[in-house]
Amino acid sequence: TKVGGRNGFSVFDASMREQMQERRDLATGLRNAIGRNELELHYQPLVDLPTGQTGGYEALVRWNHPAKGVLNPDVFIPIAEESTLINELGEWVIRNALAEAATWPDHLTIAVNVSPAQMRDKGFLRLVANALAASGVQPQRLELEVTESLFIRDEEEVLKLLQSFRRMGVRISLDDFGTGYSSLKYLQAFPFDKIKIDRSFVSGLLDREDCQAIVQSVIALAKDLEISTTAEGVETDDQLEALRQRGCAQVQGFLFSKAVPSRNLPFNRTEGSDE
Ligand code: C2E
Ligand code: CA
Ligand code: CA
Ligand code: CA
Repeated sequence: TKVGGRNGFSVFDASMREQMQERRDLATGLRNAIGRNELELHYQPLVDLPTGQTGGYEALVRWNHPAKGVLNPDVFIPIAEESTLINELGEWVIRNALAEAATWPDHLTIAVNVSPAQMRDKGFLRLVANALAASGVQPQRLELEVTESLFIRDEEEVLKLLQSFRRMGVRISLDDFGTGYSSLKYLQAFPFDKIKIDRSFVSGLLDREDCQAIVQSVIALAKDLEISTTAEGVETDDQLEALRQRGCAQVQGFLFSKAVPSRNLPFNRTEGSDE
């Protein structure tokens, strides 16, 4: 629609066109990124409470863009999700995360983010089974992180898929809990092993009563349903202490570490090698 006169419209139009061109360029670059080895996985520790020991790592994808430098997934995952590119990217992520996890101490879990479109792909279950077999990683070590947006369509299909993963031994985590189409009925109806409490609630934990109430109720409810809890985005000791007191099972955040390449994980680092 035209906004204002001819001039106002053309300015608006030009910046829109620029944005669309930018997205097209990123999509084209991304299509080649896998073959050119420009994608990289970084790993962020998931720290168990009350022991304080690392129970596993979440794989977070990065794109070493030839011109723009390191791009975070918020920039390119949404673009990949507009086409079947997300399936290709997702397969790369699962295969590479499992191949790397195969070299880690085998008590450590590996968590991988999965887009709704990937989950809905007919070949996804087999892809995961193949990648597990190829890597030799026990299915019990793999956690698939899904978001609530997965449940707005095809509930029956999704339920069957999650049950199949459960039979394989693969764990399912509900990511970003509380931000989406949250419904308590999903917690009851779907076989989740873990709820990840979104960073937005953790960041308000110390000074906002609503955040405190939500975090407290989610942990209590999860306990009743025998689902584990991980709090995301823990940045301070006070947040950690508040979560510990409330019985949260696992924490993740910059307080412990940002996501780093596999070669920089503690068990891969030899003394004296700083980088
Ligand atoms: P997410 O799954 O919620 O991942 C957590 C994000 O929060 C990561 O951002 C992580 O670096 C950041 N984070 C961790 N701890 C802290 C903290 O203490 N403070 C703050 N401010 N941030 C923290 P990242 O790596 O940029 O990833 C963004 C999102 O991109 C992820 O959110 C996830 O939804 C998506 N993503 C990442 N990797 C993949 C992937 O391989 N496949 C798919 N489909 N999505 C991915
Ligand atoms: Ca996640
Ligand atoms: Ca999350
Ligand atoms: Ca989040």
